[in-house]
Amino acid sequence: MSRLPDPECPICNDAPAHHWLWRDDRLRVIDARDADHPAFLRVIWHGHERETSDLADADRQHLMDVVWHVERCVRDIAQPDKINVASLGNVVPHLHWHVIARWQDDAHFPGSVWSARLRDGAPRPRVPAALWRATLLSRLGLPAVHVPPELADAYEATNYAIDLPDGPATLRVGAQEALLERWLTAHSQTRWALISAANPWSSRCDTDANRAAHGALRALLVQRGLPLCEAVNWPEERTSGWTEPALLCGGLSPEEAVRIGAAFGQNAVLCGDAGGEARLLWCVRPAGAH
Ligand SMILES: [Zn+2]
Repeated sequence: MSRLPDPECPICNDAPAHHWLWRDDRLRVIDARDADHPAFLRVIWHGHERETSDLADADRQHLMDVVWHVERCVRDIAQPDKINVASLGNVVPHLHWHVIARWQDDAHFPGSVWSARLRDGAPRPRVPAALWRATLLSRLGLPAVHVPPELADAYEATNYAIDLPDGPATLRVGAQEALLERWLTAHSQTRWALISAANPWSSRCDTDANRAAHGALRALLVQRGLPLCEAVNWPEERTSGWTEPALLCGGLSPEEAVRIGAAFGQNAVLCGDAGGEARLLWCVRPAGAH
């Protein structure tokens, strides 16, 4: 059982946002890079626990498994001279582990990254969030997340509005859409997916952050050379709830759509085959309520 959030704790109050790279019901992995250390991830336990040994056995095992998977990802991507793995928490006593790529010519080597700066470190490029997310996802898999029934109902009830060349269309789970069929035929595609990058981890982000994520999703899909169409998701009750930008993409397999949705922190994507109904596919593994 996790402790309640501490209102004074900056880690408890780190709102879910686009800088999160992977998360499940128990922990999150964030990009913690700074000017001197470009490949620096942090694994944070969601609950306000103080020490690793305060966790139940299964939780502690899960946390450490993720730490070592993250270490492997940092090694694979950054190819550093050395990895530092550390749990301090002296400043903020909320359980978290640092995983840091180190180079002999970085600003602090061979001291810790918190020691006195010894030199201007050799410049190294930052790692794009999309690369971290794809690599973490391939090692850690789809996250185990409890989806409450009311949230599942909201996904089922969402309207997915698309501006197709032949006119506006609305997709709904379990329904067919004639204009979408024409669009697929026109592009010689037999399947489609609708994916959003907005409001990852089911938490509201500001318009600029959502726009940036939408741009990253669009760039990824454009690179695939597949036909795209802008879309908007809105709740069944138009008067309340969120609207989100999304993209309709022809030709993606359901598996690819789920992986891309998961990499952008989405709970679900919408998919379908030509002549079939729209299906909701979850990008998380179901987990029991804690
Ligand atoms: Zn805390």
